[in-house]
Amino acid sequence: MADGINSSVTVHPELGPRIRGVAAGLGDATGTDAAEDLSRPELFEARRTGDVGLVHSWELVTAVDGPGTRMTLFMSGCPLRCQYCHNPDTMGMKEGTVEKVEDIVAKLKRYARIFKVSGGGLTISGGEPLFQIAFTRRVLKAAHDAGIHTCIDTSGFLGARLSDEDLDSIDLVLLDVKSGLPETYHEVTGQILAPTIEFGDRLHALGKKVWVRFVLVPGLTDAPDNIEAVADIVSRWKGTVERVEVLPFHNMGADKWKHLGLKYTLENVRPPNTRICSGHPRGL
Ligand code: SF4
Repeated sequence: MADGINSSVTVHPELGPRIRGVAAGLGDATGTDAAEDLSRPELFEARRTGDVGLVHSWELVTAVDGPGTRMTLFMSGCPLRCQYCHNPDTMGMKEGTVEKVEDIVAKLKRYARIFKVSGGGLTISGGEPLFQIAFTRRVLKAAHDAGIHTCIDTSGFLGARLSDEDLDSIDLVLLDVKSGLPETYHEVTGQILAPTIEFGDRLHALGKKVWVRFVLVPGLTDAPDNIEAVADIVSRWKGTVERVEVLPFHNMGADKWKHLGLKYTLENVRPPNTRICSGHPRGL
């Protein structure tokens, strides 16, 4: 996930209520974890095929995580370790409930009318939605086949896991460009920048709609040369990128880091003011 304050988007400011729930009982009226019905080998196989996935939580949102009113699924698991992550509990494959594709799709269909009226749909976020690729692929295809607008919120680090056929089931990609300079990207995430650019180049070649998201963190990502580098990357994808969102850092996740026994490095960093977020000459 991008992990700034989504409601403080600078290019097209929009506010939306967020209704969040744990994943348990996402599509099952009994509220049970699908894993309870499966033996260990069956569960292993179901995860391999994508019949089930570990879903951390879900949310009904308006005008964030894509257009209209959306159901956002937060998947467990992420290969990045962003210093500003406000949901570090989604990084590992430890929290959440095992959900079946069919239950999620049934739930999505119940909201289909709201999605249609509002121009919304499904967003799969995380964690990293491509971490459990088999499950994400299945949900996206089923939702898309049912006429529901689909979106992923991804760092792009695992973009190579998506086939062109998978991309046919995705209407919009929210692509986090967490920094423009490779060294800053590594400092922010612990990973390398190149896969994100490669994925963005591929989306551009395919003409896929993209919203780029960048989190502005004072003292970490706000150096002018880093912002210039983000602008340069975005300009590579001219014509494909519909929107650029600059999300101001916040430290609301600090308590979760402590709760997990992890060191939170941005304790003393204050959120940037909105003038800084909206004032870059390259229009970021
Ligand atoms: S660590 Fe993963 S879930 Fe957290 S902000 Fe980074 S990409 Fe998103």
